[in-house]
Parts: sequence; C-alpha cells; structure tokens
Amino acid sequence: MPFRIVLAASLTAAVFAAGCGGSPTSGNSATNMGAMSQVGGNQNSTSASRSAADSAAQSGPPVTNRHPDPNGFVFVPMFHHLGTKKNPMFCTPQQFTYWLAEMDKMGMRPVTAQQYLENKMNLPVGATPVVMTFDDGNPDQLQLDAKGNVTPDCFVGLWEKFAKDHPEFPVRATFFVLPVFFGQPKDQAKKQSILEGLGCEIANHTITHPDLAKLNDLQAEEEIGQAQLRLVNMGIQPPIPLALPYGIRPRNHKLLEGFQYKGQMVKPEGVFMVGAGPAPSPNSPHFDRYKLPRIAASNEPFGLTYWLDLVKKNKVHLYVQGPTKP
Ligand SMILES: [Zn+2]
Repeated sequence: MPFRIVLAASLTAAVFAAGCGGSPTSGNSATNMGAMSQVGGNQNSTSASRSAADSAAQSGPPVTNRHPDPNGFVFVPMFHHLGTKKNPMFCTPQQFTYWLAEMDKMGMRPVTAQQYLENKMNLPVGATPVVMTFDDGNPDQLQLDAKGNVTPDCFVGLWEKFAKDHPEFPVRATFFVLPVFFGQPKDQAKKQSILEGLGCEIANHTITHPDLAKLNDLQAEEEIGQAQLRLVNMGIQPPIPLALPYGIRPRNHKLLEGFQYKGQMVKPEGVFMVGAGPAPSPNSPHFDRYKLPRIAASNEPFGLTYWLDLVKKNKVHLYVQGPTKP
C-alpha cells in the first residue's frame, strides 16, 4: 500500500557524523562464519541453537573496528514488494540481495523490532544493529511451494539463500502483517512456524490499513486492538510492536501508549512510522518509542541506498556495540 515520506529534518540533521571513523575489519563473512560455526549457527537454527548463538555473540572477533557507541543511530529499513515496477514500494530481487550484502559488509547485524525496543540486541562487539521490517503481509514476502518449502523468489527465500553463505546475517526480521498474512490461507500456520523458527517476529499493522487520523478513538482502537487480538490468538505474546499504516498516527496520540480492548491491554513497546532516516538508539535521549522513523527500501532520496552510501562515507553516527561486562 502506498506510503508517504515525511522528512524529519531535525532528526536527519542529528544523524550525520563528521567522519566518525571506523570500518568493517574485513569483508569479513569468513571470520564471522567461523565464529558462528563454533556455536552451531545456521539458517535453519532452532530456538535452542539461536539462544546458544546469542549468548556467544560477544565471543568472536570484533565485527568492525568502529569505536563503540551505544548512543548512535539504528537503521530500520522498510520493505513492501519484490518486483521490477518503478515504484518505491518495490525492489528487485537483485537489489534486495545487494542491500543484504552491503549491510553485512558494513558490520550490520539483524535484530527484531522488539529486541531493539527492549535494548536487548545481543550483538557481537563492533556490530551495528539493523531492524529489517516488512509491511502489509504481502505474498511476495513469504511463499511456499506445493511441498511446503519456502520458494527461492520471495524475500524470505532470497534472504535464506544469502544467509547460507553469510550465517552472520541470518533471516531475522519483523513482519508487520495484515490479515492477508502472505496469502496462501491454508499455509498460514506453517508460515508462522517458519518465521518463528528463523527468529523472526510477527507484529501489528492494523486490520484494514486505514488512515488512523480519519477515525475516531473507538474506531482506531478497534483497528489496533482487533489486530493484536488476532495475533494473540495465533499464540504471539504481547507486547507486540506496531507499525502505523502510511506512518499516520491516530488523532489522539495517547492511544499509542496503551488502551484496554476486549479485556486485554494493548500497549506496544514501540510504534514505527514511515520515513525518512535512521532511528535513535534506545539509549538516546532523543528516543521516542511512539514515533520511530524507518528508511524506505528504495533508491529514492532518503531511501536505503542514500543512507548506506552515507555510512560508506562515515557520515552517519551509528550505534556500535561495545564489550559488555560478563
Ligand atoms: Zn502498510
């Protein structure tokens, strides 16, 4: 569905760093593959091996030689569709895989929205988090073939192929879904289980994708609350992050901080917008969990390509993981 880019000028200005220095210690998938293989990391890892990998996250060599900085910015790219349409809602399979490789080489490591919101990102030293987000539950994000295997031409399939050679950049993302839930209605439970098995997160994007500012409070609560209830009935535990359709907040912003709906509390730990720059660190005084910016996965101005180019030039003040106390 279409979205609006809103350039947050003041935030964008704050993101820039005047040569903060540092670069990946290598194009270092080999180094990290070694580190990951010691802890059994692979793209089909179970929850158990994932937590082993997570607890060992700090044991390998630094991912980059960037100076640790817990207050820097975090990239939250926003994907919608795969394809060749000349439209910022679409990216080609080649472009997607290229971005994965670029982010991997830059020392970015995927975390879920909830891990970012809770500031529990479990990153290796020298790494920068990236919160990969996919909106609307579009079928081209996750498709299964007749045997129930992920097809190689959807977002998840492309990423799985990449992660096979680059296990340091596993399929770990947040899917802000609508009830369409990737199409293929008979396969919904299987798709949920595949995503959860990979360590991905399924999160709230309302029921009908309305412009929430055009609804009254009760209608807005119905959209957000009903969507959460649906996810809870699928076995997903709150708190569940929320991405606003078109990035537009309800008229009553306070709704986003929590409300009761049909006997349950709807209180997302964070609310994601649309556009146009990196998001503040959860440690930053500028972190507003109810107004978190994302970066459109596009080649348009202030899209993902624009921001990654600035990272290459050391012009973005990035979050960089330092050593933690044992
Ligand atoms: Zn949407």
